[in-house]
Amino acid sequence: MNLVYRSTRNGEETATASEAILKGLTSDGGLFVPDSIPKLGVSLEELADMSYQETAYAVMKEFLTDFTEEELKSCIRNAYDDKFDTEEIAPMVKVGDAYYLELFHGATIAFKDMALSILPHLLVTSAKKNHVKNEIVILTATSGDTGKAALAGFADVPGTKIIVFYPKSGVSPIQEKQMVTQKGDNTYVIGIRGNFDDAQTSVKRMFANKELEKEMNEAGCQFSSANSINIGRLVPQIVYYVKAYGNLLKKGALKEGEPMNVVVPTGNFGNILASYYAKQMGIPIGKFICASNKNKVLFDFFQTGSYDRRREFYVTTSPSMDILISSNLERMIYRITGNDPEQCAQFMQALTTDGVYTITEEMKKGLSEFYGGYATEEETAAKIKGVYEQYHYVMDTHTAVAAVAYDKYKNDTKDETPAVIASTASPYKFTRSVMDAIQPGAEDATDFELVDALKEISGVDVPKAIEEIRTAPVLHDTVCDIDKMEDEVKHILGI
Ligand SMILES: *Cc1c(COP(=O)(O)O)cnc(C)c1O
Repeated sequence: MNLVYRSTRNGEETATASEAILKGLTSDGGLFVPDSIPKLGVSLEELADMSYQETAYAVMKEFLTDFTEEELKSCIRNAYDDKFDTEEIAPMVKVGDAYYLELFHGATIAFKDMALSILPHLLVTSAKKNHVKNEIVILTATSGDTGKAALAGFADVPGTKIIVFYPKSGVSPIQEKQMVTQKGDNTYVIGIRGNFDDAQTSVKRMFANKELEKEMNEAGCQFSSANSINIGRLVPQIVYYVKAYGNLLKKGALKEGEPMNVVVPTGNFGNILASYYAKQMGIPIGKFICASNKNKVLFDFFQTGSYDRRREFYVTTSPSMDILISSNLERMIYRITGNDPEQCAQFMQALTTDGVYTITEEMKKGLSEFYGGYATEEETAAKIKGVYEQYHYVMDTHTAVAAVAYDKYKNDTKDETPAVIASTASPYKFTRSVMDAIQPGAEDATDFELVDALKEISGVDVPKAIEEIRTAPVLHDTVCDIDKMEDEVKHILGI
């Protein structure tokens, strides 16, 4: 039987998995959610000995029920190969009292690779299955890491174009260089004079624009999304939490059925939602520790039950989490309303028009497994330095935000359950902030001098993704205002 996907905002709209992947967003601006979360078809004991690829198949076959075994296995094979610099794909390292699940061993050294290595394959397969003849135009807003990971995934994939908008002054220098040097005739990268939320809001508006859809259709193309709102990104992210549990069993850190906690540095709520889905599939998880940086809208939400985006936006050293509208939270809200699309739509409408909504006491109970934490800029830097000095392990700024939140959680609760910290980026992606934390005072050094200094102190080889951009020419230099984004898209598509 096929799993049915529904809109979080309207009970009428349904889709198969491949249709949901193709569309990205539902036509009412909501998100696709599966009717129910399927259970894992393998036992916990079996997990301990499964490879990443085998685990991926076990998870994804339950969600993507209209894909054949051969299709899905082929997507997995093509995604999780030697693009990753380790056979384990997502290795786990124990540092101090926590397990760091390193999700940054892919092509662009951030955890977005875990999903964006496979999404192009899922999308092209979905297009074939649904007899789509149109060219697929991937339209994406990025806070830095999605952009490059999506560009790398879709570059020169036949039948696709990819357009990425990023906040011109809101990403790290290395993130920007990674994007503007992207090769591939079908890739387009545009800086905007605005922040990530501006970019994401405009992109969502283009998705919902029926007039634009019609014009594009006449020109033989259609949008799809590589943002974490696409179910084709969410599902592959469940895999590494399932794998992490298998790893802990294998290490003997847990006995079968004993829970682990997860700590996730959070922006758009995609990664942590995937861990929540892993639990619904049957993985024993105790607490979901949701870590925010100075943009702590989620921390406040877990404290008060009010989601209030009317606040100052800060550019921090963990830019991929500089987000005030956490899109994937909508899937959680839908769930805690008891899957009530009308109520969910009202909350989302309130967020758009008033900038705030407050959930009911009843709904709050549905969030009891979540713990909100946050880290200031000073705490983040001190954590990087402290862990480096004590353990000689260098983590990136986003991971450090999670590590700080975990410290606070332990202090608060004295909970000693083994914890897995999602380590979402290589320190080399945020070299300047990382080096600034460990050895401050190198303001005059270039980014690549800092890369070499980081190699010296960490003993970790410089990843290929960084070596590649040292000398690469800038191929994309367009910058536009927020209200000109649609014009840019039309220009690129020739409509
Ligand atoms: C995207 C990103 C995050 C936030 O993940 P969400 O799924 O948006 O919550 C955290 N850290 C890094 C390095 C990222 O690239």
